[in-house]
Amino acid sequence: MEKISNYIDGKFQEALSKQTIENIDPAVGEVYSQIPDSDERDVELAVQAAERAFSEWAALTTEKRSRLLLKIASLIEAHVEELAKLESIDSGKPIRFAKQIEIPRAAANFHFYGSAVEHFSSESQITDTRAINFNLRQPIGVVGCISPWNLPLYLFTWKVAPALAAGNCVVAKPSEITPMTAYRLAKICEEAGLPKGVLNIVHGYGHKAGQAITAHSKVKAISFTGSTRTGAEIAKTAAPLFKKVSLEMGGKNPNIIFADCDFDEMLQTTLRSSFLNQGQICLTGSRIFIEKPLYEKFKKEFVAEAAKWKVGDPLDEATLEGALSSKSHMEKVLSYIELAKKEGAKFLLGGNQVEGPGRCKNGYFMEPTILEALPPESRVCQEEIFGPVVSLIPFETEEEVLGYANQSPYGLAAMIWSRDIKRCHRMARQIESGIVWINCWLLRDLRTPFGGVKQSGLGREGGFGVLEFYTESKNVCIKVD
Ligand code: NDP
Repeated sequence: MEKISNYIDGKFQEALSKQTIENIDPAVGEVYSQIPDSDERDVELAVQAAERAFSEWAALTTEKRSRLLLKIASLIEAHVEELAKLESIDSGKPIRFAKQIEIPRAAANFHFYGSAVEHFSSESQITDTRAINFNLRQPIGVVGCISPWNLPLYLFTWKVAPALAAGNCVVAKPSEITPMTAYRLAKICEEAGLPKGVLNIVHGYGHKAGQAITAHSKVKAISFTGSTRTGAEIAKTAAPLFKKVSLEMGGKNPNIIFADCDFDEMLQTTLRSSFLNQGQICLTGSRIFIEKPLYEKFKKEFVAEAAKWKVGDPLDEATLEGALSSKSHMEKVLSYIELAKKEGAKFLLGGNQVEGPGRCKNGYFMEPTILEALPPESRVCQEEIFGPVVSLIPFETEEEVLGYANQSPYGLAAMIWSRDIKRCHRMARQIESGIVWINCWLLRDLRTPFGGVKQSGLGREGGFGVLEFYTESKNVCIKVD
């Protein structure tokens, strides 16, 4: 059975406690590897290693740092098949999704920030004839990156790559539910020649290892992606220490469909925005609002198409719907199914745990589930379920649907489907969310600001903005006359 190690100061090592956590393959429901159960002592080692490595790493020329990151990107690309298989086993996601989207995106994260840092510049101000001011941007020092289980390597690298590019040293913790590809990434970084101590990966529980990173006085910034509840914990710990914090949290995104949309494109995209990765994507459109004249047609065709998303062995290239990431998460999703029944939902499709095929019969599988007849203010329509469960809600007017969309405490993404471009602009301006996709979903450009408002987030990742987050700005004023 593979034993995952921490990666601290360029060395692979077990937790100082010598304790391990069982890592379960959710498609078969069995333990298949062990991971270190790290605590504040391991985090301390990692922070010390990062501190020692910092001055040399920060002093390296931008070109040299960039070359190292580009090399890591190439090595990820060279190992797409292997990494996709590891990700699929670790998280239960269909291998085709890992291979086509997630692992290539992990490589793209390193490629993008390896390139972006070479174009990152800061402004200067000429103060009449008296002075020149310039903005010296310097890396922060040691930063902490904490990531979730739903898109493991994709989100881990989305944080780590810009942090390193900006010249920081990193102490990172992947979710203990999906540690495998971060462990493999450590080996890739070693092969690429990343100096020791520049990236340190500490595995273990959030409340122990994660909390120790957040609370460490030498960790100057925390970049976190995960639930709103954990984000609030992190904010509470970091605030009195005056750390920089970037929080990417939950979502309950509205998918607003007007009758004049391109129906076929909308339908195919809505299937993906509902059920891709078993609905475990912060950007899924789990509240689907349909203009009344289209409601019955949409319902009939959406249910018929979603019924084709049969659960299957995640390692089978044909599988569209894999396992949920863990037993406890499946139980949480199933508890919302019970709540939906109590709240008066009508089940148009699914609503059950199902047995996986062959070797997967004890895995954590659920049917795609489509609900209707729930009031928009019901708990099922307001709380993040983070599974393959969507609710259909009819609407009559633009004002009405805007009210529903903004009723949520979250504000990450929104989708609008319509051929009326003026209406789309009107809606986009008024919707309370960090991202609005018009006639599309998950069409990403890494230069754009990514993040949410309200309970979905604080700060933005992506583009040059995140390089600003990972640097401190110092105003230098030179008197010239
Ligand atoms: P969690 O908040 O449970 O965990 C996220 C990470 O934080 C994990 O590594 C976790 O470790 C760690 N953690 C937990 N408690 C603490 C703590 N007290 N201090 C420091 N770290 C801690 O989220 P999930 O892993 O369940 O991920 C799902 C959530 O992530 C959903 O709400 C989803 O919407 C959100 N998400 C948001 C995205 C965005 O960009 N806005 C993108 C993707 C997901 P451990 O696993 O050991 O608990």
